[in-house]
Amino acid sequence: MPYWEPILDIVANVKSSKTSALELVQKALSNIEKYKEYNSVITTLESSALGRAEQIDKDIEEHKDPGLLAGVPFLAKDNFLVLGAETTAGSNMLRGFIPPYQATAINKLEAAGAICVGKTNLDAFAHGGSTENSDFGVTLNPIDKTRVSGGSSGGSAAAVALGIVPFALGTDTGGSIRQPSAFCGVVGYKPTYGLVSRSGVVAMGSSLDSIGPIGTRSDDLALVLDVISGRDELDATTIEKNPLGYLGLNSVIKGQRIGVVKEFLGNGVAPDIRKAVDSVLDLLKDKGAQIDEVSLPSTSLALVCYYIICPAEVSSNLSRYDGQRYGYSSNADDLEHSYLNSRAGGFGKEAKRRIMIGNFVLSSGYYDAYYKKAQTVRTKIINEFNQAFMNFDFLVGPVTPITAFKIGSKIDDPVSMYLADEMTVSANLVGIPSVSVPIGVDTDKLPIGFQIMAPQNKDRELLGMVKAMQEEIDVS
Ligand code: GLN
Repeated sequence: MPYWEPILDIVANVKSSKTSALELVQKALSNIEKYKEYNSVITTLESSALGRAEQIDKDIEEHKDPGLLAGVPFLAKDNFLVLGAETTAGSNMLRGFIPPYQATAINKLEAAGAICVGKTNLDAFAHGGSTENSDFGVTLNPIDKTRVSGGSSGGSAAAVALGIVPFALGTDTGGSIRQPSAFCGVVGYKPTYGLVSRSGVVAMGSSLDSIGPIGTRSDDLALVLDVISGRDELDATTIEKNPLGYLGLNSVIKGQRIGVVKEFLGNGVAPDIRKAVDSVLDLLKDKGAQIDEVSLPSTSLALVCYYIICPAEVSSNLSRYDGQRYGYSSNADDLEHSYLNSRAGGFGKEAKRRIMIGNFVLSSGYYDAYYKKAQTVRTKIINEFNQAFMNFDFLVGPVTPITAFKIGSKIDDPVSMYLADEMTVSANLVGIPSVSVPIGVDTDKLPIGFQIMAPQNKDRELLGMVKAMQEEIDVS
């Protein structure tokens, strides 16, 4: 599974006509075909991608600026609206839906010369951690086909790990970029909340949803973030990007103050993961980082807090799928039955579960006991992180308590599936950037991810740290 060259080199070769955008797109398309059995890509955009590649090659011939990402093929999770392409969010509810507009992130990538070659598999509406909730079949883990690739951006992570494309876009509401990246051995980046526009991305939990890239190198992710980040008038929660951009900072490990989150290293963590994390901490220490343990007691409540707030927001966001305006529609004698039948037939089990939980925690009589309390806990968690960041540049720990699990082993036990999100949901509740970096494998040769979190808007510093780690220490 050879990875692509660094994106900066790919672009330099396209610009100097050493290689053509057309060749790159053809390579990505043939990779999609070659790795079909993994089911990481559910829609291929062959004709539009080839057309765009020809246009970019023509622009170069005519000495027009082809953009920062000229000719770079990429995949987008199938919850990004892409013009002319079916956008299903992995659910039967949206099968056949062709969006009338395009996600801001895709617009920005296209304006920079990148080329979307297809859409990747995901848990329906991004609910899940294994892609087993997808109505398009499960994505197989690139290292062991009997295991899941993680989720919900499992298709994007697997595609990058298989070397289909140099990068893919994912979404992360409670870990969906980082967890599959950990399971597949690639780097997954969840930016600060609001740094990348959510416009044109199928909403899951609007106060938690982040959009970010999955790739293999820090610089590649930084370059993509440079392109997709920043204020967008179509998403009022967006923020300005760092005027210095995200590329090029090479932090030195020496002198960094790193806090190891005590609650992330409890008994539930697999021994191989614990060992890998400990050995990376030793390496960081050897390079001069200052490593200390830090306790964030409220993080032990993060998972329950997330599984109240997230379904509450899900239940609201999914109310638009009523069978009338778009998506799956079931015939009925009256409007009420059309609503009922469309929602009963279009949504899968997990979406229905979250709608039920969401409506329950928001209903009068239970609102104070669940939703309001969860928001109070969320504030407590935010305060604890802010406090910790007064003493530390980064907070670290594992991404997941376990490595990629067997297909089918958790799908009938939603609570055990939810437990795999224990260490990722805090970053979403707090709105901070967080990354998963591969740091080795367990005894079954399954990849292990290391999580690094930084304060809000320290995305440049976080990517610089990943770069330093990838350069200074052998994390493979
Ligand atoms: N696994 C988590 C969930 O099911 C996270 C999902 C996500 O980040 N989209 O909610």
